[in-house]
Amino acid sequence: MSGIRPTGFLHLGNYFGAIRNYVKMQEDFDCFFMVADLHSLTTHPDTKELKANVHRVLAENIACGLDPDKVAFYCQSHVRETAELYLYLNMMAYKGELEKTTTFKDKVRQNPENVNAGLLTYPVLQTADIILHRAKYVPVGKDQEQHLEMARTFANRFNHRYGDVFPEPVAFNYNQTLVKVPSLDGLGKMSKSENQMATLYLADTDDMIRKKVMKAKTDSGPAEKNTPKPDYIENIFLLMNLVCTADTIQKYEEDYNNCTIRYGDLKKQLAEDMVNFIAPIRNQVDAILNDEEGLKQIMQKGAEKANKSAGETMKLVRETMGLNYF
Ligand code: ADP
Repeated sequence: MSGIRPTGFLHLGNYFGAIRNYVKMQEDFDCFFMVADLHSLTTHPDTKELKANVHRVLAENIACGLDPDKVAFYCQSHVRETAELYLYLNMMAYKGELEKTTTFKDKVRQNPENVNAGLLTYPVLQTADIILHRAKYVPVGKDQEQHLEMARTFANRFNHRYGDVFPEPVAFNYNQTLVKVPSLDGLGKMSKSENQMATLYLADTDDMIRKKVMKAKTDSGPAEKNTPKPDYIENIFLLMNLVCTADTIQKYEEDYNNCTIRYGDLKKQLAEDMVNFIAPIRNQVDAILNDEEGLKQIMQKGAEKANKSAGETMKLVRETMGLNYF
């Protein structure tokens, strides 16, 4: 089970941190993937663009290979039981532990005028989304590690207080470490709304991709053989690892270690490989977006599957909690 907020265009971080695994997992597991529209209200209360953004997240996931026939692909607000479980879990989540969450502290710094209770309890709502389907594996990027730890805490607390209902959810990446796709300026991660010139979006035109990659920070190259790479160069190699061939990566690793590296050439190669990766996805999105009826049917079918699973869990939750009086 996993989700993505409809707060803007999807980017390479969403793809390599999350969607790539959704597409693999749909072959191996019984999966629930959702558009986290309720979560987006914690930071984006204005709903004028919400419908278009929900449609875009649906279309971009499908263009990346997610198959709504193989998984439950739904919208968070279409599953009302989420709100009920969130309410119960809120009684088990302590103000102190929520205030210590890194993402909460970051968002308070970024938006001091909108520190709402939903923002504080964001990890509780996320826990509700996950355990509502009694999910075990949660494909997410590295930035979600702490939230998953909290999800385990809340699930275990419920089990301990009322009785065993939930498995322990874990962040999942097929036995690999979780992915963090760095931003092109080397400062932090690619993200939907911050730092747009340093983030590669799945909707970027070929020219925009080239422009962004060519602006990535480099220097005049190493002065001595086999020196460790500075962070911003390490980041460029990390991006190459995502889209370039093994031969290309090896060539530039050798050039770096021999002090013959030409960053201009490297970035041109990286830009072309990025274009080849992103263009086919971008080109499919518009056709999917134009079929509003198709998107509606996908959401309806997804909601049906998710509601069935949620209904079964919540029946068990109410019984286990003792909320059954007749
Ligand atoms: P954003 O931070 O761009 O708003 P979300 O919070 O909606 O994205 O996260 C959706 C998924 O994408 C999560 O699983 C998250 O871990 C993953 N993700 C987001 N940014 C990155 C990144 N730069 N690198 C790896 N994974 C990421």
